[in-house]
Amino acid sequence: MSDSIRGEDPQVAERGHDEARSVSLELDGLTKVFHDDEGDVIAVDDVSMDIYDGEFVVLVGPSGCGKTTTLRMIAGLEEPTQGSIVLNGRDVAGLEPRERDVAMVFQNYALYPHKTVRENLGFPLQIRHFPNDEIEDQVRDVSELLGIGELLDRRPGDLSGGQQQRVALGRAIIRDPEVFLFDEPLSNLDAKLRIEMRTELNKLHARVGKTSVYVTHDQEEAMTLSDRVAVMKDGKLQQIAPPQTVYERPANLFVAGFIGEPPMNFFDCELAERDDGTWVVSDVFELKLPQPMAAKLDSWDGDVANLVFGVRPEDMTDTTVVEETFSPDTTFEAHVKVVEPIGADKDLTLAPSESAPEEDEFTVRVDSNSTATSGDTVTLAVDMSMSHLFDRTTGTNLTL
Ligand code: ATP
Repeated sequence: MSDSIRGEDPQVAERGHDEARSVSLELDGLTKVFHDDEGDVIAVDDVSMDIYDGEFVVLVGPSGCGKTTTLRMIAGLEEPTQGSIVLNGRDVAGLEPRERDVAMVFQNYALYPHKTVRENLGFPLQIRHFPNDEIEDQVRDVSELLGIGELLDRRPGDLSGGQQQRVALGRAIIRDPEVFLFDEPLSNLDAKLRIEMRTELNKLHARVGKTSVYVTHDQEEAMTLSDRVAVMKDGKLQQIAPPQTVYERPANLFVAGFIGEPPMNFFDCELAERDDGTWVVSDVFELKLPQPMAAKLDSWDGDVANLVFGVRPEDMTDTTVVEETFSPDTTFEAHVKVVEPIGADKDLTLAPSESAPEEDEFTVRVDSNSTATSGDTVTLAVDMSMSHLFDRTTGTNLTL
């Protein structure tokens, strides 16, 4: 397995990787195969990663990519078909969930409906036979930490979704585990509350500082909560890196397309060597590659006619409203189909020509002072330093 996927490469160093920092959770070659009537399902396929002490790692990816199964294997709710899980130096194979020193927070809260908030919070300590006065002290501390001190005598049915989720969090915190495992804990909340709880979780993690693994299919949640994002697809880990790195330096086409909203634009293209340098040629444009980017392709021996050029909507500019001269080497014309104002910016849906099919459309995010209207032809400038070239066959980003 390549080091860049495992997260032992400069991508980690960029985030201030500390050699002295200890690994809290180590997944090695983790694989899970389910057998059902239709055959084998490889839910998790040879996933390896090191998660550092106190780190918040978010597993993100489309439905069915193996996030929950990975988390459930860490929790001990699912047995790996292959591979190992080492928690603080201890191989936890064969250990029951309660012997693993992990606490899991689920999407559906899993609170006891007939117990009060106080009893729900205190339960993990009660079954471990903590003295009553200590349970009381800890319930008070945790409920204050989560702002639910007023709700201790209520039952879950008398709480809002956000309050229930706080109680579920409190019950995990009170166990004081080595690792928190979160399985889409905010997905039952409405959009506004989700954002509020996201901020709460961020603050909470800053205070409690425990190693956390968090599963979501919501890339915004992944980007805002994590120290590092682990992007999965078809059971395989695609990239693990800090959110900014995943956004700016996606390892492959899948990560590039999955992270970012509106998504990165992709154009089939080929390379052309000309007297003045290397050019990216597509049906839509001809753009000159900056020398450092061209140099990165020197050691690559794939098919130059089988590439994908990727550029994010915000890395193209509508030149008509900018007082700046752009080189014709990195500009091209496009036809405006739709203009959508979104506050400080506008999203333009463009096409190579008026009659181009929908699949050729792409998006550019421009300043709100752009005067482009539907039917216009605009000249777009591409920020080549923020662009990428991918091998269409392997998906690999060739310009990292
Ligand atoms: P989601 O976001 O939809 O929850 P996920 O990324 O968490 O998806 P998993 O729930 O881990 O994905 O499932 C990964 C794959 O394993 C899917 O194809 C799923 O159908 C399959 N799978 C999960 N549990 C079982 C099971 N008990 N038996 C058979 N197949 C399963």
